[in-house]
Amino acid sequence: MTFADLGLSPKVLSAVTDAGYTQPTPIQAGAIPHALLGKDILGIAQTGTGKTASFVLPMLTRLEKGRARARMPRTLILEPTRELAAQVEENFIRYGKNHKLNIALLIGGVSFDEQDKKLERGADVLIATPGRLLDHRERGKLLLNGVEILVIDEADRMLDMGFIPDIERICEMIPFTRQTLFFSATMPPEITKLTEKFLHAPVRVEVSKAASAATNIIQRLVKSGSKPWDKRETLRNLIKAEDAELKNAIIFCNRKVEVSELFRSLLKYDFDAGALHGDMDQRARMQMLANFRDGKLRYLVASDVAARGLDIPDVSHVFNYDVPIHAEDYVHRIGRTGRAGRSGKSFTIATKSDTKYIDAIERLIGNKIEWHDGDLSTVVASEGGEDDAPRRGKGAPRRAGRKDDDRKDRGERKPRERHARPSEDAAPAMVREEQPDVVETAVADIGERRSRKEAIRSENTERKSSDRNEQRAPERGDTRPQRDSNRPARQRHQEDNDSTVGFGDDMPAFMRIVAKV
Ligand code: AMP
Repeated sequence: MTFADLGLSPKVLSAVTDAGYTQPTPIQAGAIPHALLGKDILGIAQTGTGKTASFVLPMLTRLEKGRARARMPRTLILEPTRELAAQVEENFIRYGKNHKLNIALLIGGVSFDEQDKKLERGADVLIATPGRLLDHRERGKLLLNGVEILVIDEADRMLDMGFIPDIERICEMIPFTRQTLFFSATMPPEITKLTEKFLHAPVRVEVSKAASAATNIIQRLVKSGSKPWDKRETLRNLIKAEDAELKNAIIFCNRKVEVSELFRSLLKYDFDAGALHGDMDQRARMQMLANFRDGKLRYLVASDVAARGLDIPDVSHVFNYDVPIHAEDYVHRIGRTGRAGRSGKSFTIATKSDTKYIDAIERLIGNKIEWHDGDLSTVVASEGGEDDAPRRGKGAPRRAGRKDDDRKDRGERKPRERHARPSEDAAPAMVREEQPDVVETAVADIGERRSRKEAIRSENTERKSSDRNEQRAPERGDTRPQRDSNRPARQRHQEDNDSTVGFGDDMPAFMRIVAKV
């Protein structure tokens, strides 16, 4: 089958040829003919299968008729993260090079003004993250009743990030007569319910078993002691051993604080590394990704929320510095390598406390993962068995400061004191999130608290819900956002501090009146 058999317009076919693609992928072959007929689609496919083009190409063909009106976009694509939204925009630019379409990208972390201008001009294609889209709507700058095609992409990711209520609200704002193209890598019950509510007699296109791991990726488990410095040493040794075959690697951590610590440690050891996590500002994230894609960085230390779904075509290795807590994340992580038919390697560093997570992963993928160099039963007690013991010879006397010396031996920095203020060069958001005690110390002084509130308030006059949702969505390894109410009160308090304090901008006027005494 060729692209010409699918019913796409000549303009689209010409752009596809220029992109160098000759054969549609299974999701494209399955979805495009139905999408061109205006049918709803339920696409069960992961990134890396060519699913973006499976909705972009038919949309471009269908958009050739008609024109956009101010503030009334004709199509809407919802993406869970800014990076994915930007990636979809790139696809529209590439395949839409023979069309004169207005594309607007509405994502958090950037100013509203430019986005307003694009909406005012009339958008044929609107690509958005849910929070920022709703912000624009609430500001009265956007009308959704002209949307003819709605795409909900990475729906299971939306679920993980707590966006489902937003998606439901948005679906209800768009006329029922629209066409809906819905994509998800997995189909948990919440997603099935959503499709039953919002899709009309959809054509189901499933390209591979949900949550199956690619067969062109060599997967290995690597035993390690549990201490951070043990794991870092294991990782460095692995990287060195793989050097000849290693073009570049993504190194996944479960939490933002580990991303930051591992990144700094790798730099100290002269590894050419960058970091990517959900608390970085948008410009830094995009720059970091561009550097990695262009080969200016060999190692990218990343969290799941920042890296999932990204299309980086040629990654030779994935290292899981932490075993993912949610088994499906394993499939997504290792899927960053072995893309477009290439082979890839993934190594997962495992400690004794990880066995239940490994079991869950093996159940999900339906296979046992081979150990690289002996399983955990061969981890010697001094490395992993006695979790709190510093490394020392058997029977050697423990002396004060020994742990610090051990770290120095390894060229690593002593972990931050629990009550110390975050230093200037530490990423403050990470320190706050992972060490609530620091927060409490920091806000103990009332005067300081007041000035802190003022600073936060002025910083947040513009960004409210969208940034809270998109930028500060917790990493999956911590707690899922849907369960926010279960988070420790201290942590919630801190996150609240990062957005609106007290009444925020909505303080009633009478509370501002100065009392006469
Ligand atoms: P996606 O699943 O949309 O993230 O796409 C994964 C990668 O496959 C991207 O780099 C696309 O450019 C590429 N791709 C999309 N369609 C095709 C095709 N028909 N043949 C080869 N590569 C493709």
